[in-house]
Amino acid sequence: MSVRVRFAPSPTGFLHVGGARTALYNYLFAKKHNGVFVLRIEDTDIERSTKESEDQLIDALTWLGLDWDEGPNVKGEYGPYRQSERKYIYKKMAEKLINEGKAYYSYVYPEEMEAIKEKLSKEGKPPHYSYELLEPYNTEERKKEFEEKGLKPVVFFKMPRKAFSINDLIKGPVTFGEGAIGDFIIMRSNGLPTYNYAVVIDDMTMEITHVIRGDDHLSNTLRQVALYEAFGVKIPEFAHVSMILGPDGKKLSKRHGATSVEEFRNKGYLPEALVNYLALLGWSHPEGKEILTLNEMIENFDLNRVNSSPAIFDNEKLKWMNGVYIRQANLERIVKLSKPFILEKGLLTEEQFENNKKWVTEAIDIVRESVEDLSQIPDKLETFLKDFEVDLDNEELTDFLKADGVKSTIKLIYEKVLNDPDWKVETILKNIKEAMKESKPKKKPFYMSLRKILTDSFEGPDLVKTIHLIGRSRVLQRLERVVAKW
Ligand code: GLU
Repeated sequence: MSVRVRFAPSPTGFLHVGGARTALYNYLFAKKHNGVFVLRIEDTDIERSTKESEDQLIDALTWLGLDWDEGPNVKGEYGPYRQSERKYIYKKMAEKLINEGKAYYSYVYPEEMEAIKEKLSKEGKPPHYSYELLEPYNTEERKKEFEEKGLKPVVFFKMPRKAFSINDLIKGPVTFGEGAIGDFIIMRSNGLPTYNYAVVIDDMTMEITHVIRGDDHLSNTLRQVALYEAFGVKIPEFAHVSMILGPDGKKLSKRHGATSVEEFRNKGYLPEALVNYLALLGWSHPEGKEILTLNEMIENFDLNRVNSSPAIFDNEKLKWMNGVYIRQANLERIVKLSKPFILEKGLLTEEQFENNKKWVTEAIDIVRESVEDLSQIPDKLETFLKDFEVDLDNEELTDFLKADGVKSTIKLIYEKVLNDPDWKVETILKNIKEAMKESKPKKKPFYMSLRKILTDSFEGPDLVKTIHLIGRSRVLQRLERVVAKW
């Protein structure tokens, strides 16, 4: 049977990195096995689900490049792919269970259910519902009352009193002991299914072969397995992926910084970097390779290599990886992606950006060498554009300037630039070389002084390229200010 997997988010907020990793593992598994990756929107929690959140989820998954083969906006034979559009299926299947005596109607109110639980616990019994306990509420009077109020009877599933076990592909064998839970609701009085029931109906009717999801759902698996058995269908394989923790060992949350795909996107992370990082958050390449193309991930993905213990979200590693991807990406793409950050910072206007594309492209190419995300690009570009007056009393600079030949070389460079209108990288290099040959400065103090005078910093990218980007008039102005004082 061919592999069919699904990612089934509830549209109640942004796509969390944990969810994105679950989607990615499903995607990789599907691709690896030439299977089908389904996107299903689990929107039966009407109070918390929003269309806006569904759009955001779809947008985030699209941005990550995790395309699905079937889903709300991609035709498939197993639709609809939104739970809110599948109510008729849940109803029909619940009736089937009722007809087979595996489920039953109950006209009980939530408060009464609470009262039953309380009574059981007072009697020292486990708080489990059963047909015997609920049946007395099914009076004719109560049925009429429900009808008048437009309520539907709740449907309870008769939980078999026996143990259940699964062989989880990540966790290994998991057994749920006998009598762990009692009968449970599968259809509510508002006519909507409960989560555990809807998931089973969907996975069953969509012929899902492998359920790969977060291990926060492991306890739900008991109810789900019991339902599969009741329907007499093949139970899918389960693979429960462990949680993602922050560096302090607590569940990854806002306190640890960005946690949603949207936040990383807005901070200037590249999708391929986030995908690569998330792939390694719990899974590893057989040869320990870290920078991986999507194809390498697909080829090597194996649930056997997914760690059963929690993964620690390491922001520093993600930043490093993003930097690697920024440096190796197509330059035009990086320029385009950096534009909003540059405009937002007010560094350049849209017009300036577009009219100086060549300069902008060159400048971004050299500053991308030292950034971790695209939001850092504007600050780096500022070096070339800002106006400043270097502090000649700076202790380090005064020391460097005292070294043999430093001041005279800088003076010579100033003169050469002044007399040479040609402003190419090669000409700048030639002028510097000639000045050095004539004045023979001590190298390190010379380079440090020149950089500090021209950029107000002792470090930065390639100096000659930097000088070229600063532009002839600004360079002359910066040199003149200091040379005039000597
Ligand atoms: N809708 C569930 C969630 O967002 C996922 C259910 C599942 O994967 O079985 O957590």
